Amino acid sequence: MRSTLAGPRVLLRRLREVMAEPINAQERLDKIVVLIAANVVAEVCSVYILRADGVLELYATEGLNRDAVHKTSLKVGEGLVGLIAADARPLNLPNAQAHPAFAYRPETGEEAYNSFLGVPILRAGRTLGVLVVQNQSHRTYFEDEVEALQTTAMVIAEMVAAGELEAIVQQGTKLDLSRPMHFQGVALSDGVGLGHVVLHEPRVVVTNLIAEDATAELERLERSINRLRISLDDLLNSGDFAQHGEHREVLEAYRMFAHDRGWIRKIEEAINNGLTAEAAVEKVQSDTRARMMRQTDPYLRERLHDLDDLAHRLIRELMGRQHGPVSESLPQDAVIVARNMGAAELLDYGRDRIRAIALEEGGPTSHVTIVARALGIAAVGLAENLVSLAESGDAVIVDGESGQIHLRPPSDIENAYAEKVRFRARRQAQYRRLRNKPSITRDGVEVSLQLNAGLLVDLPAVSESGASGVGLFRTELQFMVASAFPRMSEQRDYYRQVLDAAGGRPVTFRTLDIGGDKVLPYLRAIQEENPAMGWRAIRFGLDRPGILRTQIRALLHAAAGRDLKMMFPMVTDVSEFHQAKAVLDREIRHLRRHGHQVPERMQLGVMIEVPSLLYQLDELFQAVDFASIGSNDLFQFFAAVDRGNTRVADRFDTMSPAFLRALKHIVDKADSYRTPVTLCGEIAGRPLEAMALAALGYRNLSMSASALGPVKAMVRSLDLARLSVRFLPRLDQPGGTGNLREFLRGFAQDNDTAL
Ligand code: PEP
Ligand code: MG
Repeated sequence: MRSTLAGPRVLLRRLREVMAEPINAQERLDKIVVLIAANVVAEVCSVYILRADGVLELYATEGLNRDAVHKTSLKVGEGLVGLIAADARPLNLPNAQAHPAFAYRPETGEEAYNSFLGVPILRAGRTLGVLVVQNQSHRTYFEDEVEALQTTAMVIAEMVAAGELEAIVQQGTKLDLSRPMHFQGVALSDGVGLGHVVLHEPRVVVTNLIAEDATAELERLERSINRLRISLDDLLNSGDFAQHGEHREVLEAYRMFAHDRGWIRKIEEAINNGLTAEAAVEKVQSDTRARMMRQTDPYLRERLHDLDDLAHRLIRELMGRQHGPVSESLPQDAVIVARNMGAAELLDYGRDRIRAIALEEGGPTSHVTIVARALGIAAVGLAENLVSLAESGDAVIVDGESGQIHLRPPSDIENAYAEKVRFRARRQAQYRRLRNKPSITRDGVEVSLQLNAGLLVDLPAVSESGASGVGLFRTELQFMVASAFPRMSEQRDYYRQVLDAAGGRPVTFRTLDIGGDKVLPYLRAIQEENPAMGWRAIRFGLDRPGILRTQIRALLHAAAGRDLKMMFPMVTDVSEFHQAKAVLDREIRHLRRHGHQVPERMQLGVMIEVPSLLYQLDELFQAVDFASIGSNDLFQFFAAVDRGNTRVADRFDTMSPAFLRALKHIVDKADSYRTPVTLCGEIAGRPLEAMALAALGYRNLSMSASALGPVKAMVRSLDLARLSVRFLPRLDQPGGTGNLREFLRGFAQDNDTAL
């Protein structure tokens, strides 16, 4: 038996004429259903559009009762039409009324029709409606008819996405495309951003859907696939990917798809039905995405991402587009939406117009997060499916405090957030007024507040925030955002700029802390079972003395004639400090011998991040000029809780008596040796935790720029002596200590301490 289809290409050509006619949306839909019915030789053709309330509304019909248009509706999952929308799959039935899901709607007059073919109207895998044809006879529709209907559905999807149907939306209803959506992700960087979506890798909008000449399109496809395969082979053979590793696996998966006959055959079929090559790739990808989005298997979901990326590459190849951010057309209030992005890519956008970033992936310690925090940009990660559900230009709110994202928010939510932003701005203004005020408690104790920094973008904050210096300069950030290992001269210039920007305030440079989660793209990553406890930081530096020596030389040059304060990360044994110091001493001798000027004064320290140092404090404090506690790592190793793992992060509290006792032990010992000690982990920047640290005896805290104001406000309103006498005994209470956080909150409330 032959299909009754007049020819999908004829249908598409006519469709193109209809799309170009200067008529309104209802007239256009009415014409489209007539056209499809005639070409598929069906007595009925109907279009149902998905509304924001989850209801599919009949928007146009040929063959059913016309009075039912905009009246008949089915919920998603209800009836055959609802089933197609729920499953995002075609349904092809010779006897529709016998199907258990069939739902009879008397106003339509559809009881006369037996056979039924329905396809979802999809865009980027998202269901926007359902397109149906029906016949009286009992027949199964042919594959080419299913294809033709899917292709036509794509044209309707573009009409919906372009907003054309807004003009005929019934009063009191909304299209699903404009439905508000809420995502619960993970807060990565504090702040609240209201703005409009900018897709980091914009979906290339395929506007030219319908082709004149299928043979020419097939040839274009073949050429582009060949180019794509060659570029993947080149990438795989290039030095960067020659070894095994995650990137290589991803590229191998791409190559596998790029050679997959099934995938290519589906694209060719769509071209034979009249689509342009790029529209055909998009159609096949949209179908695949719709099916796979319901997958929960993480492996398959990852493969879907790969296939998405590959399809985008192919579409770009076909349309002659390049990758890259579209900064020139950035709105004033851009919210960057991406699956994931690199730190350097974020920096490329520039700070001025970015209100927030929202990622499908991204973790609390990923590089983009570190940079977002440094720039003071709100960020949320782990927002599932966000990229395919957001459209460029959609209104969006990113709440970096709670980890929520509101896409196309209703006005009440928008108003509430606008108020929240105003409140935060007022508070920031109050903090700014504190800038030049001393950081002294109500009872006269100075708690010096310094800044954690690591990028050039941090530098203005050194003078603007009122910090007394830079307590932690993470030198590895320069290395992490670079595309190749920075040369000695580049490092030297960078450190010089940092010292200049600090304007005489002390800067504590930490030598390279790479390894663990801090991976350099150009340095071959080695596979380690537990990278956080592996070959990282000073361990790496001592095994690769060339790298450490170069950095030390750069620091010595940069600080020539000035003060230099330097510390080593992740020291486990005091002997490592002595080894690192020996590298420095040799370097100083070398420079002197060659007539170079060296720093006026040197102070050398270590970071206390590994619990083993707690049992070497006597040797340590006699050997070093100062120490700085990296409580992020110290707590991670103290409590055996991965700092980047959100599953366990909430279980263990840095305000636990055990950890606070350890911190108290360190500061007491340091005081007894008169060795200055700073605390530079995240807890120093949280007012409640900083309050506890002050009570323990810490007088130097180092934190991110945005934390300085809130912590200073706390310090200036704190009666430290009163807190200490109440707080410290609680740490030693044998019969349980109660909840220390609650105690601190209660104290703050009763004593007017600003939290
Ligand atoms: C720390 O571990 O607390 C620290 C400040 O270092 P980083 O966060 O860079 O590991
Ligand atoms: Mg650390």
